[in-house]
Formats: sequence, structure tokens, C-alpha cells
Amino acid sequence: MNNHKISDFNKFDTFVVGSLPRPVWVQRLIEENKYGEKNPALIKDQLDNAIPMAVEMQKAAGVTYISDGEWRRESYVKIFAESVDGFTLDLSENITPNAFSLKYPAVTSKISQIKPIAVNELKFLKSITNKKITVAIPSPYTIGRRMWSAKYSKQAYPERKTFIEHCVPILKKEISDLNAAGADSIQIDDPWLSLLVDKKYREENQIKNIDAEIEISVDSLNSIVDQEISSLTSVHFCHAHFNRQHGSFGSYHPIIEALGLINVDRFAMEFASPVSEGTSVLKHFPKNKIIGLGVIDHTNTTIEQADSIVSQVNNVMNHISPENITLNPDCGFAPSSANPMNFDEAYLKLTSMVKASNILKEKFG
Ligand SMILES: [Zn+2]
Repeated sequence: MNNHKISDFNKFDTFVVGSLPRPVWVQRLIEENKYGEKNPALIKDQLDNAIPMAVEMQKAAGVTYISDGEWRRESYVKIFAESVDGFTLDLSENITPNAFSLKYPAVTSKISQIKPIAVNELKFLKSITNKKITVAIPSPYTIGRRMWSAKYSKQAYPERKTFIEHCVPILKKEISDLNAAGADSIQIDDPWLSLLVDKKYREENQIKNIDAEIEISVDSLNSIVDQEISSLTSVHFCHAHFNRQHGSFGSYHPIIEALGLINVDRFAMEFASPVSEGTSVLKHFPKNKIIGLGVIDHTNTTIEQADSIVSQVNNVMNHISPENITLNPDCGFAPSSANPMNFDEAYLKLTSMVKASNILKEKFG
């Protein structure tokens, strides 16, 4: 069981979910790095010079917990395959209901870690800012769903579940190292648990026993946080998105009861978009957990108004006390680097979120 101290956390604090839109030239650096087309040290230098812009944007917007925009990553989940040996690049096609035709690595041999997943990102951020920092890593279940393929992976790991179990010690150690390196917030991305709410996704992936899938996700999440952690720990659930289209649809009802079983402090969830079918499901939200309330719809170009965000939060207070409410966008603005999103739009949306947070902090002290 983990032992968290979250005393410096404040109600209505604002978080990013992780990724921010990357300029095209940063996307190209990531591609060049992936295919070994340029000196890695040179690319690192260029990204070291680029990332302060992502940091300054979040500081200008006033966000409490900031990230590096995940500007070093091709995607929130592929970062695992970049840091761990055993994968073959670009082998699997996307298998979410709204196929975005993106290619993913597949595990093809036994895995072994070759470098930290996110610790170096954190250390760089800490060297350039005193702001609170949130760092994301993918969950074991999402890695298993995304990168174990029945077609390519059976020789390495006959079953997806076995592969997931082998990811656990690597992620547990990463959390330990992130905590030791002073991460204020560690977010574990598990969108593939929330994809289970979508009937079409379950049918296409021949998932008949949703409870068995939830159990694999919950058990593996609990295994990686089963240690002393002073960082605030969160799990992020969304419906996946690319080019302003969602990858799945549906209320969180099928998974909401499981949240009380997951030993983290906070859940960052998607509620601004209609795909989640409203906030009434939050009457089942566990009383001892913090909600990261999604108040920014990244799939809609309209900039949210602070007043409408405040009304949304007021409605949620019917179910959750102010002490347990934080604000965030529904998802990272660009979980994969190629996601065509607008950096200035992200800034304006984050600014509205912070304005709403300041109104709420004033009102509820
Ligand atoms: Zn997300």
C-alpha cells in the first residue's frame, strides 16, 4: 500500500494532462530521432532549446502543475517502447473503433529496459523551472492493449496478460525514480481501461468479460504504486482522440466502481466533451479520491468561457466536495506528436481554465 502525503495540494488547482501541440519542426525532430536520421545529441540540444517555450506558455496561462508538453515523445504510450528493448517499430495498425490509421510498435521479444522512461524529462524540467511538475507514464494495461499483438507477439509472450505482468516491475521502478527525483505529480495514463465503456470497441476486440479486463488493469496499477510515494499520484482516463475525433464513446458507468479499488490519489477524467455523457456518474465517485475534472474539450475549437467552467464545477459539487476537486483539460492536447492541434488555442483554453480556477478559489477559499 502506498503512503502519500498531499498536504501542499490545493482545491481547484489546475493541471495539464501532459501533451501540448508540437510545432511542425518539433514533430520533424521526433521523426528524425525515431529513424536515426540525425545525431541524437544534436536533437536533444534542439529539444532542450524548444521545451522552455512549452513551459513559458503554461506559466503565462497560470497552470499550477505543468509538463514539458511531452515534446520529446512520439506518443504517450510509445515512450515505453523507446525506453525498453523488445519492440519492433510500426508493426501494428490502430485498433480503436475510429481507426486513425496510426502505426504502433508490437512486442516481439522479451523486454528489458535500456533507459529511463520519463526521469530525464523531469530532471530537465526541474533544471529550468520552480513550478510544480506533472509527469506522465503509460499504464501496464494500456501498454499491453496497445503493444501486444496476437499476430506478432505470441512468441515473446503467449498471452497479453503475461506481457502486462512483465511491464509492471519496469513501471514500478520508474515511479520510484520519479518520486526520488522530486516529481510533484505522477500521472499514469490508462485510456485503454476507459475504452472498455464503448460497446463497439468491446465487440471489435472480442472482449466479453469486462470485469476480467478491469481486474487486470486495477491489479497492475496497484502493483506499480505499491511503494512509498510522496508525489501526488493520478490515473488518467479518456476516450482517446486524434484530429479532433474521439476513439470511443460512452459514460464511465461501467468502470466507475473500480476507481475506489485503485490506490492512487486522483483521477483525471474527461467531462467537457459530450462523449462522456455528463457528470451524473460522479455520484458514484469514491469519497476519498480527488477528481481531475475535465473542463476543456480539446476536440472543439471554441475557447471555453471561465463562467461556463465555473457552472460545470458547481454542478459537480453536488457529488464531490470542493476539497477534492482539481481542474484539467479532458486529455493531453496531442497525445501523439502528429496530432494536428493548435498551440495558441491550447494557451487560450488553459487561460480560461485558470481564470475559472481563480474564481472558484476566491469563492470557496
Ligand atoms: Zn487522454
